[in-house]
Amino acid sequence: MTADRGGSITVRVPAKINLHLSIGDLRPDGYHDLVTVFQALDLYDDVQISPAARMSVTTIGATGVPTGLKNLAGKAAKLLATRTGAGGPVAIRIHKQIPVAGGMAGGSADAAATLVGCAALWDLDLTRQELGEIAGELGSDVPFALAGGTAVGTGRGEKIAPVLRAGNTQHWVLAVADGGLSTPEVFAELDRLRAVGEVPRVGPVDEVLAALVDGSAAALADVIGNDLQAAAISLQPGLRRTLHAASQEGALAAIVSGSGPTIAILCQDADHAAGLAVELAGRDVCRSVRVARGPVHGARVVPTPV
Ligand code: ATP
Repeated sequence: MTADRGGSITVRVPAKINLHLSIGDLRPDGYHDLVTVFQALDLYDDVQISPAARMSVTTIGATGVPTGLKNLAGKAAKLLATRTGAGGPVAIRIHKQIPVAGGMAGGSADAAATLVGCAALWDLDLTRQELGEIAGELGSDVPFALAGGTAVGTGRGEKIAPVLRAGNTQHWVLAVADGGLSTPEVFAELDRLRAVGEVPRVGPVDEVLAALVDGSAAALADVIGNDLQAAAISLQPGLRRTLHAASQEGALAAIVSGSGPTIAILCQDADHAAGLAVELAGRDVCRSVRVARGPVHGARVVPTPV
């Protein structure tokens, strides 16, 4: 892959939701084992990478995103250069559509896009597996953003395997909340809730895998779930209203996405999603509403806009 005219590479990378997120108990080393089923949705960040005199990371379309090496995209470029001994300073421009701190792994997506973009810009001969290993060092959700599709994640979520599924598309409405939730704080809240009482746990992942093979939205609606949901609601109680409104408006199912606060609402088909999105937008239960579909591809190079 060679760089476009002007020496820039642009990579488009999807958001994710978790169709299933089962969280083990807190381990002595402070981590949690988890089992998840990711799905990549057609809500994308575009990350443009250009050779530059010095390293920089800027974001367009969102506020409150760190710059430079505090941004996961900057970390990704640095780690790839260290691991391969290649490269030079790059300017990274992130065109953001994925909600920030929304439980949709936007930062991880930008890191994955940066790995793909820098590897192309620097003409590196790396396999997807080699890139995936570097991705896993950057964060639990980064390997999935590289891969896309629908996949099972184990370990901290970084060990991924594609799932067998019917070839149909799932249709979603995303209710984007005001403000964000910090993933470590949501995990800590789950530990706290579990220490003081019973917190419901999702069923076995096998049920979700079987529903994906079946392919019907109704079968999937019966089994999707998220162990972090109770903790996200405890920290942001207004999410209850959003979930309730989604159910009143005819959602097949609605769950908190990842660590929240975005709510992912499963619909029957594209028309159902479009109608539900309009109704939900009129109810003042979230900041904005998006229609999305999945699964879609992972991070990949697209033409750089002129
Ligand atoms: P996850 O579910 O992967 O923990 P999230 O989707 O809830 O993450 P992100 O959008 O990834 O949330 O942002 C989490 C935090 O990461 C933000 O508050 C921000 O400070 C930091 N961050 C670092 N790099 C980025 C980036 N490129 N885009 C967005 N946030 C970033």
